[in-house]
Amino acid sequence: MAFNFAEIMADRQRRSRFLVFIMVVASLLGLGFFWLTAPKDVQPGFKANIVCRDCGHKETIRLRSIKDVRCPKCKSRNLGFAWKCRGCDFEFPFIKPEFKTDDKRNDSWELVEKVYVCPNCGQRDVFAIPVKKE
Ligand SMILES: [Zn+2]
Ligand SMILES: [Zn+2]
Repeated sequence: MAFNFAEIMADRQRRSRFLVFIMVVASLLGLGFFWLTAPKDVQPGFKANIVCRDCGHKETIRLRSIKDVRCPKCKSRNLGFAWKCRGCDFEFPFIKPEFKTDDKRNDSWELVEKVYVCPNCGQRDVFAIPVKKE
């Protein structure tokens, strides 16, 4: 039986069978490709410098969400990201507040301005302390 594409497409039943076949092959190829290219032994999440608000412990850890981690030293959940002020070199734990989507735009901006501020000198020139590369 000769492979006739036009004939297959003309016949409804055969066409749907053909399309299913194509989809199965495509998804198998996709799975295989994913399996081959998926990075192996990569831990989830990202690395960040954290500071414990309770004991002051600083550490670079791998995390998915700051809410899921405990202080490696005192097991407190009261952690923040390590941020620093360029003006006075003050380091502080920073937690980005969750902005409500129903906030009015102006309120949100006001909140942002209040949050990204050095607690020591009040400057806005603050940044997350970058994680050192291994
Ligand atoms: Zn702690
Ligand atoms: Zn400062």
